[in-house]
Amino acid sequence: MSGFGPDHLPYGVFSTPGAPPRVGVRLGDGVLDLAFETGRDCFAAPSLNPFLALGPAVWAEVRDEVSALVRDDDFELLPLASATLHLPFEVADYVDFYCSEHHAAGVGRLYRPDAEPLLPNWRHLPVGYHGRAGSVVASGTPVVRPRGQRVLPGDDAPSYGPSRRLDLEAELGFVVGAPSAPGTTVAPDALADHVFGVVGLNDWSARDVQSWEYRPLGPFLGKSFATTVSTWVTPLSALDAAWTPLPGQAPAPLPHLAHTGGAEAAVGLDVTVEVEVDGEVVSRPPYATTYWSPGQMLAHLTSNGAALRTGDLFASGTISGPAPDQVGSLLELTADGTRPRSASGGDRTWLEDGEVVVLRYSALSTTGGRLTLGEVAGRIESARTHT
Ligand code: MN
Repeated sequence: MSGFGPDHLPYGVFSTPGAPPRVGVRLGDGVLDLAFETGRDCFAAPSLNPFLALGPAVWAEVRDEVSALVRDDDFELLPLASATLHLPFEVADYVDFYCSEHHAAGVGRLYRPDAEPLLPNWRHLPVGYHGRAGSVVASGTPVVRPRGQRVLPGDDAPSYGPSRRLDLEAELGFVVGAPSAPGTTVAPDALADHVFGVVGLNDWSARDVQSWEYRPLGPFLGKSFATTVSTWVTPLSALDAAWTPLPGQAPAPLPHLAHTGGAEAAVGLDVTVEVEVDGEVVSRPPYATTYWSPGQMLAHLTSNGAALRTGDLFASGTISGPAPDQVGSLLELTADGTRPRSASGGDRTWLEDGEVVVLRYSALSTTGGRLTLGEVAGRIESARTHT
């Protein structure tokens, strides 16, 4: 079943010739049409949102129901090859964090070589920013090289044109199903009460645009042109065997960000990532090395009373491990464009037109095998003519 067996059953939205988009579950190289198989109205929809809004009790009920259909061989499987896959959910708000210590410190050393790699707030809260929900796209959608204002090497003033330092960021995304009420907060241990599942995510980044525009308010147009997510959403319930302790947290987080049992509790996820550029694997970032947990991201996001909405998406930030071949961005892999991104890739550094980036994710299954999470693919198209 190549990672998409009965222990996985990720959700997506698909269409077939002559029939509208609807919700399905992937099994092997096929799709179960959930509207047809379960008769539930929430699945006769072009997004997962109506189902997500029903909350964890219904998510569990449906997973049991689909598992039983699969076990009893009582279903019709549509070949994946005949289906078109769509963005699986309507994104409400999109937030991107900066949770990997190895990434944050690595970038700090590149940009501020004479200072402490981490800024003073970094170990006290998961740093994040609000991204652009409307430009989150499904895996397979081409990414047009963004134009923007940047200062070219040797210039002392900015100019406007195609980004010359286009990058990828390998991340894990979390999809909120059950909302929270305005004015209330969500505890770190309450992740599964609100989050339905996980997607692969590439936070495409134009580094030249970003480095010129970000002071003092943070990422803006260098990020908002496109963010790609996998077409399959792996439910948290399929990841029961993938939880693992955090690498450690010092100083201890403030009480509202602390898990019961501390960082030693299994509140992080052991998901392995593979970054392929132009057909070559250039890096293998391990999500298990990430400093802040998914529950802590959620708790911080709501710690001011901001309400969660069905379809909210929050992402981990670039996943980087401690080793040079475990970094989740070309910024780190090429030391800000000063060395080639791979031994066999010639002198290539940043992404070039026509190149395809594929992010692949895998995690331990409850049956002892490996789950293959939905992949995240995108091809870079040349910048459009300025009109
Ligand atoms: Mn990012």
